[in-house]
Amino acid sequence: MTRFAVTTLGTGAALPARGRSPSAQVLDANGSLYLIDCGEGTQERLRASGANFQRIRHVFIGHLHGDHYLGLMGLISSFHLMGRSGPLDVHAPEGLQAIIDLQLRTSRTFLRYPLTFHIIRPENGRTLLEDEHVTVHGLALRHRLPCTGFVFREQPAPRNLRKDQVHRVPHFERNAVKAGEDLVLDDGTVVPNAELTVAPPPPRSYAYCSDTAYTPGIVPFIRQVDLLYHEATFTEQLAERARETLHSTARQAAMIAREAGARRLLLGHFSSRYKNTEVLLAEARAVFPSVEASSDGCTYAIDQRTIV
Ligand SMILES: [Zn+2]
Repeated sequence: MTRFAVTTLGTGAALPARGRSPSAQVLDANGSLYLIDCGEGTQERLRASGANFQRIRHVFIGHLHGDHYLGLMGLISSFHLMGRSGPLDVHAPEGLQAIIDLQLRTSRTFLRYPLTFHIIRPENGRTLLEDEHVTVHGLALRHRLPCTGFVFREQPAPRNLRKDQVHRVPHFERNAVKAGEDLVLDDGTVVPNAELTVAPPPPRSYAYCSDTAYTPGIVPFIRQVDLLYHEATFTEQLAERARETLHSTARQAAMIAREAGARRLLLGHFSSRYKNTEVLLAEARAVFPSVEASSDGCTYAIDQRTIV
């Protein structure tokens, strides 16, 4: 089975506190790494995670509050010092390129590798990237700045040849049959693909929703997602504060997971006022039982669904 897993590098809101760093995550899709947000200190935490982070090709920054991007300049600079030559693509709201360019210009740094910015806007379902491993779509979150969430979906795997039928398929036809084509025998007989193959497990998916007020408008775009990371900055006791700052409560995060029919919910972006996550977890669990609280440095693997 190929790997599809997310490591939460930073799970705190706003300030580095109580063992929680600002937002950053790395998604590993079959060895291809995607960085999602890049709060202060992200590169140290990438190093601590053991990830070969030179392999990060794409960075996604959802919005331009400092706790989601202040680590990016350091990472770009370190890639330069480490001799990176491969391209780096940053998908971010308008404004980030000017911030980074100013710092590079001021320090007279001429990067050894191509750095390209792609401007993103919050829009549900917009395709932001398609490569050999994943497609990435945007989500329109509701926050004090334009804020985009991200849905990562694995590219569909080829169909699997049935063990009892493999011998019927000549080697040179196997890729075509795995791609769904029927097999035509020498005498012209057509063997339907369904006799020869079984469907692969459905592609796995991961959604990242931070920062946002309760926004049911995203639900149709994250339906049946395997793992939903949703911010839960506060509990319902501070619902008023959540409304003012356009953040969510743990209960609201769970409501989104329930409405979307998500398989699992991962809470994060916790206010530093919470000594531990018990109260947030309990609040969410009452609405959506399959919930965990994310911790810095933890990896959450997303298993394939078994076909019944
Ligand atoms: Zn924010």
